[in-house]
Amino acid sequence: YTTDDIVEISCHGSPVLLGRVVEVALAHGVRMADPGEFTMRAFLNGRIDLTQAEAVRDLIESQTLYQAKVAAQQLGGALSRRIQPVKQQLVNLIALLEAGIDFAEDDVSVLPAEEAIAHIARIRQPLLRLKEGFSFGKVVHQGLTLAIVGRPNVGKSSLFNRLVERERAIVTATPGTTRDLVTETVSLGGIPVHLVDTAGIRDARDEAESMGIQKSREAMADADVVLIVKDASAKAESPLEEELIASARERVAIVVENKIDLAPSTAYPNGSQLPRVRTSAANGEGIVALREEILRTISAGGGREETGFLTNLRQHQLVCDSIAALEAAENAIEQHVPHEMLLMDLYNALRPLDDITGATTADDILNLIFSTFCIGK
Ligand code: GDP
Repeated sequence: YTTDDIVEISCHGSPVLLGRVVEVALAHGVRMADPGEFTMRAFLNGRIDLTQAEAVRDLIESQTLYQAKVAAQQLGGALSRRIQPVKQQLVNLIALLEAGIDFAEDDVSVLPAEEAIAHIARIRQPLLRLKEGFSFGKVVHQGLTLAIVGRPNVGKSSLFNRLVERERAIVTATPGTTRDLVTETVSLGGIPVHLVDTAGIRDARDEAESMGIQKSREAMADADVVLIVKDASAKAESPLEEELIASARERVAIVVENKIDLAPSTAYPNGSQLPRVRTSAANGEGIVALREEILRTISAGGGREETGFLTNLRQHQLVCDSIAALEAAENAIEQHVPHEMLLMDLYNALRPLDDITGATTADDILNLIFSTFCIGK
């Protein structure tokens, strides 16, 4: 694993025995490994690159099979394989321009501006795709929060129960003490989804709808995806529902028309662009479609069919840095800045890509990454 010579001791797994083996080893001058030390050595010795090292941690921490699969792809070098060709193209461009400078006096024609710009565009395109996929990568890695909001009695809790019933809960239900919210984390298509039910609203039945608005707003503020539930058998949208739908425009929301068993064919006024799903929490109709719609919403930025995406902020920031430097380079060409200056921008674009795979990463960043590992990995 580390490429170092190692001694492995296999023994029976009783804690007493294992403890004693460690004690004896320590007494003979062995020291305990630091968190992530084995993986760090594997990286420093060139067996794996930094994205693969990070994937080791992701693999250990994964809570769903899908997360593990994504981490395993990363461990196999999926992200590096996407970045490598981009880097190569950038190096080629740099080499061309460097040659142009070195031979400027020998009549070697430097790269025409349009060609250079086209070259940069080809480099930037795959980086932009990577950047776009980050929202999905983040969701896969961290999971997301889904809030169920709406008026009292429309079936929010029933839907909540329907959504969690066939999914294995990752964490047991914890009745929210602070904000009257019930949450449960389930795996939806392999993505950890923290469901939040605004259960407290039920206690506020007698009070004005403003109470419901307040609670729903709180839940929505923290949510990545919002289910706005309404009663399909009601004649029109209530002021609360109108308010929720209006405020949801800026975020990812799905309108759920529940209780369709009571109103099979209501033609609802559909004033918003939000996706709608018709369900019956009572008999289970539409729940599969709702799950699919949630997954579709999550994956809207693309990503699920791709392998090798950015899964952490470090990688994302570096890709953004590289894109910004490429844009600066493009501007430099348009303004006919000397190639020496243009090259500085291109090197600025190259460096972050090197940092992603760890070709040129500073020690303090390495320590930061590996310190988050557990001991013995
Ligand atoms: P909440 O206040 O929005 O959380 O609503 P509940 O989930 O507590 O449901 C309120 C009432 O509506 C309960 O009596 C449920 O059994 C009932 N209910 C929920 N969903 C449906 C549905 O799809 N069809 C029918 N007929 N009743 C439902």
